[in-house]
Amino acid sequence: MNLLVTGAAGFIGSHYVRTLLASDAPPRITVLDKLTYAGTLTNLEPAHPRLKFVHGDIRDAELVDKLMAEADQVVHFAAESHVDRSIDGAADFVLTNVLGTQTLLDAALRYRVEPFVHVSTDEVYGSVETGSATEDDPLRPSSPYSASKASSDLLALAHHRTHGLDVRVTRCSNNYGPHQFPEKVVPLFVTNLLDGAKVPLYGDGRNVRDWLHVDDHCHGVELVRTQGRPGEVYNIGGGTELSNRDLTGLLLEACGADWDSVTYVEDRKGHDLRYSVDWTKARTELGYHPRHDFTAGLAATIAWYREHRAWWEPLKRREEPG
Ligand code: NAD
Repeated sequence: MNLLVTGAAGFIGSHYVRTLLASDAPPRITVLDKLTYAGTLTNLEPAHPRLKFVHGDIRDAELVDKLMAEADQVVHFAAESHVDRSIDGAADFVLTNVLGTQTLLDAALRYRVEPFVHVSTDEVYGSVETGSATEDDPLRPSSPYSASKASSDLLALAHHRTHGLDVRVTRCSNNYGPHQFPEKVVPLFVTNLLDGAKVPLYGDGRNVRDWLHVDDHCHGVELVRTQGRPGEVYNIGGGTELSNRDLTGLLLEACGADWDSVTYVEDRKGHDLRYSVDWTKARTELGYHPRHDFTAGLAATIAWYREHRAWWEPLKRREEPG
């Protein structure tokens, strides 16, 4: 079995690939990744005998055609993934998330490479003020990022409904864990605090997110790839809801800092108040449940950043102006 995994030099895709390679009988894996600012080969083991790394763009139709001709299944993680960057400029988000996904889907259709697992996000449902979104709820994305993810999510499902391609979509909540690029809240705050710097908290910090360990997310994606049904959407949640303010309090305490280390910054434009997914379907159909306790998972994540300065310092430095 030859598995094509896109975007696996990033946070979640690399965890997925490392987990598969560490299993008893790993498939042959081809990773296609453009190595944008968010991708780094230090997340992968490029020398592993079951792994082939291809540096390229998911919009490169010729390259994608060639890789798809050799593939049996696809798991598609590649995306522009940071909401704030999509507010500064949406073009790359449309090009990669929408056009790139369509390029992959068209090639998968040509060679009937299936299942095609499309990794989407809970952000496509928009703000969920009460209760939890189920897979049948309407998509009401708020940011250019989530709008581009909703577009690709619907394009993927359209390839199932129109062409019968075995497409499966996952919509997960906020991931945390090691190897996350230090622009997202957990690694940004932790690395700032480890450096004795301040952390920026949006607005009044009341925005609520559901936290999912990256390992639980990858487990859910694997269950969907191996046991999911064609054309179905599966929500993958973590089960720990926290306001950004409460999360900040936990990170400050764990890093030995206090609220003097917090700078309150103007709220993000269009900031969704709350995300929450109902993952009953993944639980009942696939036996999914999050296996990582949040308190222990967060402590281990902070310890990882403490011990892996050599991983994150160069990434942070190359993002600094000049
Ligand atoms: P990431 O930003 O860490 O990694 C994205 C990877 O995609 C990088 O390695 C990058 O180089 C690659 N990439 C970007 N554009 C590309 C292109 N045009 N061609 C080839 N490769 C390209 O993202 P992540 O946090 O690992 O997220 C992975 C997926 O999970 C994304 O689809 C994202 O929307 C989704 N997701 C993430 C979260 C989260 O909490 N991080 C939550 C829900 C859904």
